[in-house]
Amino acid sequence: MHDDHDHHHHDNRYTDMQARVRALETVLTEKGLIDPAAIDAIVETYETKVGPRNGAHVVAKAWSDPEFADWLRQDATAAIASLGYAGRQGEHMRAVFNTDDTHNLVVCTLCSCYPWSVLGLPPVWYKAPAYRSRAVIDPRGVLAEFGVTLPESKKIRVWDSTAELRYLVVPERPNGTDGWSEERLADLVSRDAMIGTGLAAVPEDAR
Ligand code: FE
Repeated sequence: MHDDHDHHHHDNRYTDMQARVRALETVLTEKGLIDPAAIDAIVETYETKVGPRNGAHVVAKAWSDPEFADWLRQDATAAIASLGYAGRQGEHMRAVFNTDDTHNLVVCTLCSCYPWSVLGLPPVWYKAPAYRSRAVIDPRGVLAEFGVTLPESKKIRVWDSTAELRYLVVPERPNGTDGWSEERLADLVSRDAMIGTGLAAVPEDAR
């Protein structure tokens, strides 16, 4: 078990940073230099586009390249860094692969540890107490609320993130994607699929 001080270290820094960003935003808005709606749009972009695209690239490469997939399984930190996505504070990454019989779900029960380098900003629900507690107590119920219904025979493993170790879920590659380019495959991989609250999109839904 890691110690709580270390665990929360990055979150304290994040809070400081958020406070500074908020103060700067207020000053600039008062001076009429920026439009808060424009800032919200930028944050939204980082939450849903830029960040998760890094992770989607990692997943698509793992689907396409068995050697990379092995490397990712054995040393995710190095494999991910090889694509240029390095952790901000030297945290380690672990990739957990969904299979026929096991689905993986990631949470941070204590705060909001999250793999920033591959997923960008965490969604609001990831930081919410309801998700943090219920993901552990009733993962199947939580998944159902996200619209993911798994067969009873499929095990769900829940991974509790820390400041030292962050998890990336590698969803199962959808059928009907043989021969697809990495770029096209990456379009099937959502942020939620890499947290485990979603699945990779099937090709019919992709277009
Ligand atoms: Fe945390």
